[in-house]
Amino acid sequence: MTRDGAPGGAGPVGGALPAARTRPLPAGAARLGPAGVLGRWQERNAAATLPHCLTALETSGALDNLRRLLDPADPERHDGPYRGFNFADSDVHKTLEAVAWESARAGAPRHEEEVRRVVDLLRRAQAPSGYLDSHVLGAPAGSGGAPSAAPYADLRWGHELYVLGHLVQAGIARARATGQDDLLDVAMAWADDVVSRLADGEELVCGHPEVESAFVELYRETGDPAYREAARRMLDLRGHGRLGSGPFEPAYHQDATPVRAADEVAGHAVRQLYLLAGVVDLYLETGEDALLAAAARQWDDAHGRRTYVTGGMGSRHKDESFGDPYELPPDRAYAESCAGVASVLWDWRMLLATGEARYADSLEHALLNVVAAATSTDGTAFFYSNPLQVRTGHDGTDEYQASGRRGWFACACCPPNLARLVASLHTMVATRDAEDGALAVHLYGDADLDVAPEAGLGAGEGVRVQVRTGYPWDGDVHLTADEPSPVPLALRLPGWADPARTRLEVDGETVDAATALDARGYLRVGAGARRVRLSLPMEPRALAAHPHVDAARGCVALARGPVVHCLEQVDHPGVVLEDVTLDLAAGLEVGPPDDALGVGATLLGAGRATPSAGLALYRTVDGDAASDDARGTVELQVRAVPYAVWGNRGEGPMRVWVPAAASARPGDRGRSGR
Ligand SMILES: [Zn+2]
Repeated sequence: MTRDGAPGGAGPVGGALPAARTRPLPAGAARLGPAGVLGRWQERNAAATLPHCLTALETSGALDNLRRLLDPADPERHDGPYRGFNFADSDVHKTLEAVAWESARAGAPRHEEEVRRVVDLLRRAQAPSGYLDSHVLGAPAGSGGAPSAAPYADLRWGHELYVLGHLVQAGIARARATGQDDLLDVAMAWADDVVSRLADGEELVCGHPEVESAFVELYRETGDPAYREAARRMLDLRGHGRLGSGPFEPAYHQDATPVRAADEVAGHAVRQLYLLAGVVDLYLETGEDALLAAAARQWDDAHGRRTYVTGGMGSRHKDESFGDPYELPPDRAYAESCAGVASVLWDWRMLLATGEARYADSLEHALLNVVAAATSTDGTAFFYSNPLQVRTGHDGTDEYQASGRRGWFACACCPPNLARLVASLHTMVATRDAEDGALAVHLYGDADLDVAPEAGLGAGEGVRVQVRTGYPWDGDVHLTADEPSPVPLALRLPGWADPARTRLEVDGETVDAATALDARGYLRVGAGARRVRLSLPMEPRALAAHPHVDAARGCVALARGPVVHCLEQVDHPGVVLEDVTLDLAAGLEVGPPDDALGVGATLLGAGRATPSAGLALYRTVDGDAASDDARGTVELQVRAVPYAVWGNRGEGPMRVWVPAAASARPGDRGRSGR
């Protein structure tokens, strides 16, 4: 296939995006400064997480799996058994993608020698057809233990196109970040084989969606519509039961309902979310309304009925799946880290397609809570699933207590997925409106935005804006343009922020936030502004769940701005965490920063602990059931820390939903559910 029209230099979603309402900035136009939460996260990712992932590719056997495919005479050939899950190649590809985005961020290649060695290994391991899946290629002919020994013989479980998708995304990232096509050439050789097979009528549908987004991106990178049409074909083929059933039903693979007809999210959460990202990617190229409408219906279902207050998705451990509506048990939450990553990728595409702030709200919420919590404060250990409660007496056989977050997993999808997202976070800070060229700021953090006039991203001219803020610990956001901005500015008003208590100042003049708020949820500032100050209301909030979230009845979750908090046992010595009840009537205060945890604020409240030791598991109650519960009650100060940093101070219970003595006011609904 051709490489004409390659825009080059973009972030993970590049190209002209004809159907977008708002478009990504060109590469290098946004930089996150190390003083802010997001910038510091990127620095840690570069300094600790990426080297950790590169080392793990060696120790986990992921690279050895590829070395098994080398010529027997090749000194690098590995003769040991295949190790890990059948999609372990994707760990390699995601790590290469992460290194590439980090190179783009840093403005210079990173880990280049290691990357070149891996790219060379991939090239030598590749079959003449372009096919490159080490699990399938490395399966001995006729081996009884191999689940698949021929390409595409097991589309349901083989993950081959999933692996290809990650290889394509890695190749594109490296080409855009460093200008080098070596990895993209490897990826395209395989992609072209798949495109040919689809054109020949082969019904290739992968049990694990991912390749759909990748092929649309390959179209954006190359300008060759064959890749876009291949993505469309794979989306069209899906939802008709072609993947069969057993041990998993078609819904597990999102193969029960055609993508344009689906109303609800279903099945394996990560698969569903990647698929929806691919659906919106195709919409961004074709403008086919049915695609966006289906994605929007499912977004409303997912976020209205099936998302944890931390942004986690996929409540069931069984099949790693979404549960029933409102089935969101905090202690039994699965909420895989990859689902958090995937929801961010989907939100980003929904935001580009619609320009609506609610998608940026959701993106930020998942990012600062469930996604942030997945990595330890030192950047080298990870949660696979992300519960909202760990109990006293937890059996300690999982990552929540045995040794804290884990350095790697037999199924290591999450760590390099987190790394590739964090390395590309700066590309999600701001966009240009497709209609009037307004610079829309979505994620608040210390950032320098430098959009060149020749960027070709809609109307308007170049603009340089500095964003300075202590957000999310502080609600003041200062935007300063080098010169009066030639384009309008649009600042996201988060759903939790009441416009009546939000202050907006433009060049020293107070502007009514409610008046400035547009229909998409942004505060619009006309062209010509030089200095904008946004002051968001940052009072602590107590959130109640919909009554059908039975497991959280009578409880509140504490939040401030976009940050959801939790209680940890380590902050409540001398009492059993489950015995603690929060006294909401006494109010909540902003507590001091915690430098060891790297957070700029904590929350403090009044509570009491009523010992439950000795109570029977079940007892008969009458109208005055509480009276015999109060013996031994102690008053205490409750300390809540951001959920993002839980589990970094040794083992112990944790909870997000806290029993509260006073229920939330029914009338206090706010503009957003969280
Ligand atoms: Zn994962």
